[in-house]
Amino acid sequence: MPQKKRKESSDLGLLALRRYLPYLRPYIGLVAIFGVAQLGSLAASAAIPKVIQQIIDGPITHHQIGQMLPMAGLLVAIGLLEFVFIYLRRNFSGVASLRMETDLRNDFYGHLQNLHVAFHDNWQSGQLLSRAISDIATVRRFVSFGLIWFLQTIVTFAVVFVLMWTLDWRLALAVVVCMLPIAYISKVFTDKYKVIARRQQDQQGDLTTIIEEMATGVRIIKAFGRMQLVQKRYETQAELLRATNLEGVTARAQVWSLLTFLPNMSLVVVLLLGGLNVIQGTLTIGGLVAFMSYVFMLAWPMDAIGWVLSMSEECRTASERLNEVLDSRPEIADRAGARSMERCSGRIEFRDVGFKYPGSDEWILRGLNLSIDPGETVGLVGRTGSGKTTLACLLPRLYDVAEGQVLLDGVDVRDLHLRSLRSHIGVAFEEPILFSASVHENLVMGRPVVDDAELKRAIDVARAGFVWELPWGLETRVGEQGYTLSGGQRQRLALARAVLGRPQVLVLDDPLSSVDVHTEAVIEESLATVLEGVTALLVVHRPSTLALADRVALIDGGAVVATGTHTDLMKTNELYRALLSQEYETSTQVPA
Ligand code: ATP
Ligand code: MG
Repeated sequence: MPQKKRKESSDLGLLALRRYLPYLRPYIGLVAIFGVAQLGSLAASAAIPKVIQQIIDGPITHHQIGQMLPMAGLLVAIGLLEFVFIYLRRNFSGVASLRMETDLRNDFYGHLQNLHVAFHDNWQSGQLLSRAISDIATVRRFVSFGLIWFLQTIVTFAVVFVLMWTLDWRLALAVVVCMLPIAYISKVFTDKYKVIARRQQDQQGDLTTIIEEMATGVRIIKAFGRMQLVQKRYETQAELLRATNLEGVTARAQVWSLLTFLPNMSLVVVLLLGGLNVIQGTLTIGGLVAFMSYVFMLAWPMDAIGWVLSMSEECRTASERLNEVLDSRPEIADRAGARSMERCSGRIEFRDVGFKYPGSDEWILRGLNLSIDPGETVGLVGRTGSGKTTLACLLPRLYDVAEGQVLLDGVDVRDLHLRSLRSHIGVAFEEPILFSASVHENLVMGRPVVDDAELKRAIDVARAGFVWELPWGLETRVGEQGYTLSGGQRQRLALARAVLGRPQVLVLDDPLSSVDVHTEAVIEESLATVLEGVTALLVVHRPSTLALADRVALIDGGAVVATGTHTDLMKTNELYRALLSQEYETSTQVPA
């Protein structure tokens, strides 16, 4: 798992957030309403102690009962105003941040899709899931609550301090001195909490991976009776997360209690010093009550500091985790000057191809040469792990070559627009991947404009007529990864998907491995008609499928070591003979 070194800073998560704040730009109107409401509510709550002071020092001190009612009315009016402002503030910050969250998640998802296949080979899906769901929600929470309280706290402190200063500057200074330890407490807390927050979010990602693997691998787990083992693995991970969460709870409890202690201390100081001032006649009783109300006004923002600090650290961590994904560049993308290819004849050439998987030093393919003429079907034969699937992946650019070139109609595939290149190639891989969607959606994906006749033809070619028998026909939903279908049914759907839209080039990686011998023969018969006039690279494990190939290429040691017709290679190449006779034996073995 790639993890960058953390940059130390005490910016309350704002620097990390900088990248995401532009997402608020389209909703600047909502943010403005929120800002005005925020200031309004603050002004209203700051005005209340002032009115209380006026009531005490005016009507109460001078026994003017008649004037008390209008002043009380004023208090009620200010209270109502504050109510409206708080509603607007909450509502608009919530709406703006939720829209921001949706946009950010859309971009994150789009970015994930654009990333290189190798990126997904190396990242656990749970880590990506937890980033896409909970980290983005953490950023949203900080924007909608944390940031507001952060600003609210600063503004409240500033306003309250000025108001205190106008009442009695010495008392105001005393309060400031009492509050000074905040800075130290905050520093100690954030240093500690940032480590906890990172661990917490990473462990959450690991836990998500475990749950996701259990859900997708449930058949294997049950079949091997490994439920207890998997449960144990889950519990160990859950225990780790709980321990980290508990550390977080303790750290937050410490900082919160300390931060509540400080205003209480300053209250005692204000009462003693202020009382002295009242006795000496330098402060009125109303002034003292107002002063005390201001100290009370600080209590909630002080409480919020601990909360804002923990939230900001969580947000910083979440942003960093998102950045790790967002900063990964899609290495396979359109080059500058890439062009489209409207039509293609399907001539394919692998020229001196060398390939290593990203992050590995091992050459899987090296000095590989293979040409396929338009309309020709080449069968690819080789031992298991010899690089057949890898070679098949190079054509639609799921990976790029490290050396040499892959050419389509004489053009390096890297000089073509990806969309254009892939529109000419139909693929079906060993493992037929289906999605939890309808059969129809699974078939037409990528080629949405397909007429019914073409759909029927593809289904016929792949002998996937079973779809008409499904409860809702083509609209029947297949379960996650197509698990409500049999292996052979999945393969036939994947094959129908590959031939749909009549792409000029077909890459079929052992597409018939899961169907019975009879069905295989029937599919081959119809495939033979589809392969006519189409260039095809056909990875072959079973000798029977070789009947479809015009020519065979034998791959060994990362290169094509022999090409020719099946009969020729059977006569001349020992490895080929050995491989196929072995395959033949295993595929025709009758169980005892
Ligand atoms: P099979 O006949 O079993 O399907 P294959 O010829 O298709 O085998 P490939 O899947 O191309 O073989 O694998 C070739 C080599 O590359 C293997 O040694 C394999 O371990 C390695 N390999 C495959 N995929 C990856 C990957 N994503 N990252 C690193 N190495 C990989
Ligand atoms: Mg393979």
